[in-house]
Amino acid sequence: MQNLRLLKVFPLFLVPFAFAAALAAQTTRPQPEKDLARAIYKEFIEINSGFTSGPTTPVAEAAAARLRAAGFPDSDIFLDGANPRKKNIVVRYHGTGARKPLLLLAHIDVVEALRADWTMDPFTLNERDGYFYGRGTGDDKAQAAVWIANLIQYKKEGFKPDRDIIVALTADEEGGGPFNGVEWLIKNHRDLIDAEFALNEGGWGESANGKRLSNDVQVSEKYVINFRLEVHNKGGHSSLPVADNAIYHLAGALDRLSKFGFPMKTDEVTSAYFRQMAKIEHNDDLAKVADGSQEAMTRVAAAAAQWNAGLRTTCVATQLEGGHAVNALPQLAAATVNCRVLPGDSVEYVQSTLQKVFADDKVEVKIMGEPSKGPASPMRPDVLNAVTSLTSKMWPGVATVPIMVMGATDGKYLRIAGIPCYGVQGFFFDRDDIRFHGRDERMGVDAFYEGQAFLYDLVKSLSSK
Ligand SMILES: [Zn+2]
Repeated sequence: MQNLRLLKVFPLFLVPFAFAAALAAQTTRPQPEKDLARAIYKEFIEINSGFTSGPTTPVAEAAAARLRAAGFPDSDIFLDGANPRKKNIVVRYHGTGARKPLLLLAHIDVVEALRADWTMDPFTLNERDGYFYGRGTGDDKAQAAVWIANLIQYKKEGFKPDRDIIVALTADEEGGGPFNGVEWLIKNHRDLIDAEFALNEGGWGESANGKRLSNDVQVSEKYVINFRLEVHNKGGHSSLPVADNAIYHLAGALDRLSKFGFPMKTDEVTSAYFRQMAKIEHNDDLAKVADGSQEAMTRVAAAAAQWNAGLRTTCVATQLEGGHAVNALPQLAAATVNCRVLPGDSVEYVQSTLQKVFADDKVEVKIMGEPSKGPASPMRPDVLNAVTSLTSKMWPGVATVPIMVMGATDGKYLRIAGIPCYGVQGFFFDRDDIRFHGRDERMGVDAFYEGQAFLYDLVKSLSSK
């Protein structure tokens, strides 16, 4: 109402500005809430919780102190982990219990950052030129800070959700390893984080040239299988070569792999993705891909590695070794083949397909480690509708796009455990300037506060009818 009054006294050319200001005001929370989110964010960023170099326990403890100060009882705060340095925090905000809980997840470890590589101290929150700089500003301490700040605000307001809201800030997402908090919690304290579904990192807003394009929701992710190929041979002197040569067997198999492509297909998630991208990019071929056209898939896969990877399982040679002397026939030739597998393709299918492609009994194909295949989360209409309607309210014209990611997040552990997980943040990043894991990682200041407001409303709408 106050803004309408402004219109009357302002000269006409300022009217659009006044409208813009009024709209912008609606996309962030009131100042005291922004200040709290920023203070928690700063505190988290300034604790070095590098995956190998820094503990997560101080971050978890800082969050616990904030919650206690806001009146959360100790009985609702859990602090522990697979290792004393790698603690997690789980806090429960009680609802009426009409529905199963909602889990809000974020990891509090970060990728290493060296002062020498950066133009500023990566463990000081620097605000300049409209950006927050620091390790973890994007991945993943913004979401961690916002979950805590918003939970404190719900309590302050006396918001009564119809389900418990659980926030879990966890250790060691980056690089996995023995202290992964989500894996540890599922194994040891499943009751603490058991939920109907979860929200996590993995999806964010994409903008290009300052224009917001899409708000991505990560629904599924590819999983990894690493194969070791080995060819053994009795060897001999290189002056008496024979046709049966370990290196040639391996090279032949890899050459056949280089010419092979797994069948292209879409599933529920990727066809929804291509349908939305067709609208954003004004590209008919993408719509045909969503309809299942093989010809369109061939063209689209050839146009971008990203789209190729979205349409099929991919396997590529990444490491090579072989031979032991310049003048000896090789006794061993070996290679690593790294596969990024569609959620619908099984380990057995990928292995047997590769064996057919290699078409050589001399090439032994072994799986390295244990692939962990998670199912896709179902395309839950409640989650997708809530994200879509909020997105169009906050950023008119911006599409909500379900995505499958080629990398992996902690969402995998939840999906395997039967808790569907959705990557959604509402933080917008320039799609050509993603600095997660890199130098001078940053987050737009406006993007941070808009994401806070977006997640505040999203969680409320998913926990009240
Ligand atoms: Zn992350």
